[in-house]
Amino acid sequence: VAFSDLGLSEAVLKAVETLGYEQPTPVQAQAIPYVLEGRDLLAAAQTGTGKTAAFLLPTMSRLRHAERHRGPRMLIVTPTRELAQQIADVCATIEGRTHHRSYTVVGGVGYEPQKAALRRGLDILVATPGRLVDLIEQGEAHLDDVEVLVLDEADRMLDMGFLPAMRKIVGQTPSSRQTLLFSATLDEDAIGGIRDLVSDPAVVEI
Ligand code: AMP
Repeated sequence: VAFSDLGLSEAVLKAVETLGYEQPTPVQAQAIPYVLEGRDLLAAAQTGTGKTAAFLLPTMSRLRHAERHRGPRMLIVTPTRELAQQIADVCATIEGRTHHRSYTVVGGVGYEPQKAALRRGLDILVATPGRLVDLIEQGEAHLDDVEVLVLDEADRMLDMGFLPAMRKIVGQTPSSRQTLLFSATLDEDAIGGIRDLVSDPAVVEI
C-alpha cells in the first residue's frame, strides 16, 4: 500500500514528501483509513512505529481551519515535554502545507506566552496533562471546540498518575468528539481504566 492509496488530502501528501516518508509503516497503513472515516481508534503502537504520523496525517487531512479566537479543534495529550516537542515538530512540517496553526503547552516554562496563544486561537493544541489542567482551571484553555482528541502513550500517562488529569481534560471536550487512543499495550490492566473514553473503536495492533 502507498500513501497515495490511503485517502489523504493533496496537501498532506505533499507534507509526506517533505517528511521524506516513502511507504506507510504498518500502524499508519492500518490506522489512517479508520481515522479518515471518523472512527474512534484503539491502537497498540510503541514509539518508533510511526504512530505520530499515524494520527497527524489523517486528522490534519480533514481538519477545518480555526476562526480567530476559537479554541482548538484538535487536542493531542502526551505524557512528556520531549514527546510533545516531537509531535510539534511533525505538526510544523505538515502545517507548512495545510496552513493549520498549532501550539504546544508544557510545564516548566512560563504561562504568559501559552495564555496569549490560546487567546489568539489555534487549530491544534499539543499538551502535557499537568499544564493543560492548570490552564483549564485558570479559565485560559477552552476545549468545547475539540472535534478530535488524541491520547498518546495513554498507558504511560496512567503509570505517571495522570488519570485524574486525563478525566478532567476529557470531561471538558464534547462527547461527540473522535477519540484516538494510542498505548504500548491494549491489555485490560494497562488501559482498562480509560477504555470508556473511546466509543465503538476500530482496533489496530501491530
Ligand atoms: P514515532 O513512532 O511517531 O515516534 O516515529 C518514529 C520515527 O519514524 C520518526 O523519526 C519518524 O520520522 C519516522 N517515520 C514515521 N513514519 C515513517 C515512514 N512512513 N517512513 C519512514 N520513516 C517514518
